[in-house]
This record gives sequence, C-alpha cells and structure tokens, in this order.
Amino acid sequence: MSEKIPYKIYLEESEMPDSWYNVRADMKNKPAPLLNPGTHQPMTAEELEAVFCKELVAQELDNENRFIPIPQEIRDFYKMYRPSPLVRAYCLEEKLQTPAKIYYKFEGNNTSGSHKLNSAIAQAYYAKNQGLKGVTTETGAGQWGTALAMACGYLGLDCKVFMVKVSYEQKPFRREVMRTYGASVTPSPSDTTEVGRKILAEFPDTTGSLGCAISEAVEVAVSNPGYRYVLGSVLNQVLLHQSIIGLETKAALDKYGIKPDMIIGCAGGGSNLGGLISPFMGAKLRGEADYRIIAVEPASCPSFTRGVYAYDFCDTGMVCPLAKMYTLGSGFIPAPNHAGGLRYHGMSPILSQLYDDGLMEAVAVPQTSVFEAAEQFARVEGILPAPESSHAIKVAIDEAMKCKETGEEKTIVFGLTGTGYFDMVAYEKFHDGKMDDYIPTDEELQKYFATLPKMD
Ligand SMILES: *Cc1c(COP(=O)(O)O)cnc(C)c1O
Repeated sequence: MSEKIPYKIYLEESEMPDSWYNVRADMKNKPAPLLNPGTHQPMTAEELEAVFCKELVAQELDNENRFIPIPQEIRDFYKMYRPSPLVRAYCLEEKLQTPAKIYYKFEGNNTSGSHKLNSAIAQAYYAKNQGLKGVTTETGAGQWGTALAMACGYLGLDCKVFMVKVSYEQKPFRREVMRTYGASVTPSPSDTTEVGRKILAEFPDTTGSLGCAISEAVEVAVSNPGYRYVLGSVLNQVLLHQSIIGLETKAALDKYGIKPDMIIGCAGGGSNLGGLISPFMGAKLRGEADYRIIAVEPASCPSFTRGVYAYDFCDTGMVCPLAKMYTLGSGFIPAPNHAGGLRYHGMSPILSQLYDDGLMEAVAVPQTSVFEAAEQFARVEGILPAPESSHAIKVAIDEAMKCKETGEEKTIVFGLTGTGYFDMVAYEKFHDGKMDDYIPTDEELQKYFATLPKMD
C-alpha cells in the first residue's frame, strides 16, 4: 500500500456488519456444553429458559450457524456510538522508536465507557421482544451494570443490578450513572435474597465478589415472574454479540490491505477478546490465514496461565449451570490490593477450548507494570485507558519493543476496551506508590482447586 494509513480508520455506516459471526461454527472441537449442577447432564433449552431469555438461549446453544443477523433495532442503537475507530498508534510507535506497526480498536467512546454496551443492547432487546418486564444482573467494577442500565433505559425495561459491595462503596459515581438511566442498584451480598443472607451469615465482613452477586441476581430473576437474568461476559452469546468488534476491525484493516501478525486483548471473562479475535480465529480455523493471538490477564487472577481446565461453578452460591473452562475455582477472590479489574475466577468456554487446542497464547502480567503502560500510553495517545484495557497495552508495548530489538516490522492489533475515568482510585494508589504486585502462591490456588465439583 502506498497510500498513507490515516490515524483513524473509520468505516462508513453502510459498511457496518449486519450479522454477528459465530466462531463456534468453525471450531472442530466445540466448547463443552453447560451442565445442570444437580444431574451433570447438558442443560436443555427449556431449563436454560427459566433463567435466560428464549432467543438468547437459542444463541447460547447454536454451534452451527456461522452468521446470525443483527436485528434492525440493535443496528440502529449501534449507530449511536459505532462504528468505533481503529486507531493507528503513530504517536506510541514514535515514542517507542519501534519498527512495529501498532493499531488499537477503541471501544470507550460511549457513556458506559466500554465494549459491554455491544452485548447489553442485544440482551435487553431480546428480553423486551419476549415481553418481559425486566432483567437482573451483577456488576463488579460497574461497567457492565452501566451498559445494561443504558440499554434498558433506552428500551424501557426494568433493570436490577447487584453490585459487589466494595465497588458500590468505592465507586459512588458509577452507581449514580446507573440510577440516572433508571436502574436500581443493590450492594451485594445483600439481605434481600436467600443466598445473600446465607453468605452474610457465614462471612459477615465480606466485601462481596462477582460470583456472589451473580447468585443473588439469578435468585431474583427466577423468583420474579417477567424477569430473566443477563450476564455481561463468559457466555457464548456474549462473545457472539462482541464479534461486532472483530468484524469492524477486520473490515477496517481489509480496506487498507493490512494483515496483522498478532492480535492482543485483555481477558477477564473473555468477551472482548473473543469478539475481537472471532473473524481472525475463524480464518485460522479454516486454514486461510495465521495469526498469533494473545490473551493478557492479571498475575493476581491468572485463570488461563495457572488455572485448570475443568467443569466449575460460575457463581459462589452454586446456583448457575456448570461450565467447562479454565478456572481458579469459584471460591477464588483476588487479593484485596488487586486494582485492575479482570477479577472473574473463570474464562469463556469458547476461549478455554481454543486455548486448550493450542490456537492461542496467554500471558499474565503484574499490576504495577500495567499501570506503567497505561500512563505511558495516556501521555502519547491521549486516551485515559481503563486498567483492564491497559493489560493489552502492556503486552502490545512489550511486543513492539521485541520488534525494536530484532528490527522486525510486525503489525500488532490490540483491543482498547474502555476508558478509566472511574478508576482514579486505582491510579491514585499507583501514583502514591501504594500498589504492590501480590501473586497467589501455588498452595493458595490448590486450596481453591480442591473446591471444584467432583465429576463422574
Ligand atoms: C469488563 C471489561 C473487561 C473484561 O471483560 P471481558 O469479558 O474479558 O472482555 C475489559 N475491559 C473493560 C473496559 C471492561 O469493562
């Protein structure tokens, strides 16, 4: 290409994808099915429909259809904040003096501040379409709750959010954004559910966890007519909705004839990474192209790099289906000083299978190095990145520096999932030198592995 590549590659509205891409259709080894926690048999559609919306259950179980059309109403909502830009990080390249070419797909240009809105609007749409009154969910740092509140506010659905207690107290602004969009927000564990009361009785001083908030949200959904539970990551349906990120990225790269050598993304439950890599992984699975695909996780919550691939509970209360995934055990809670998000104990079953098949790599990075990378990036590229996203920045910079040593002009694409305006307490800790890099010992991890369900 002789044409100079612009700082930002935007697609036209007319070039936006009209279908999501379902990578499972191209996987030889399909992700393992969700199991009923009582019988250990695969969950049937009927069983799942007690908890999740009907159309979303169909998407969850669909391993065959390669493309799923995006309903017009969702496409119209997407147009309020999409297509998102694919940015050429010229300023970062210059600063690093690297021959590598670095691109990032920026998903932070909406009020919720992250990619989570891509799935929130889809899930809210199908709930509304089914004639439901509302949805329940959990939120940790608050991005998912905010995204869902926005989507429900737009469609006029009731939205009940259980927010991990420590975040509820430390992030009052997130909470108020959710309430602005009409959601009700309850700190978890709470005394409003049976499972919450049980957890509080056993651990009165607990600051809560995602797994515990999930149990509460599920309980409220199944015990209130007209309500279903929705989840912001991990599930197959969420990766499907997030494929919009990868499809747009691929279309933008194709416009300029750019072929990436590696694709990097942070991994919490795996939805942004799964979405970003989907079309590229599809090409890889069909033998049409090859890419290095790298998942980046916190050293303090290392599901891929130190977890086991096994059936596990998705929640602390053990009410959800069992999922086969790379997991640290459902009781795992990262050390209290962990500040960078990505704290879920498990990982998307799709990504877990791909990783187990050797189709992608994973690295774990300590949090102070993540904040160093975040700061370096903010100062040259302008965007204040979310700590989660900064895991990907860290490894993109590491790879660009390797290129500097070898002189290779590799093309690196990474996912910049969101902005960090609500994470300034974490930045403050970093700036004040109060952040450390606690990494769990093998003995600690062993303790949680021992709580995995016994499978026969
Ligand atoms: C939720 C979130 C993540 C991690 O979730 P995944 O499902 O792994 O994508 C990453 N970045 C941001 C900004 C988030 O809000």
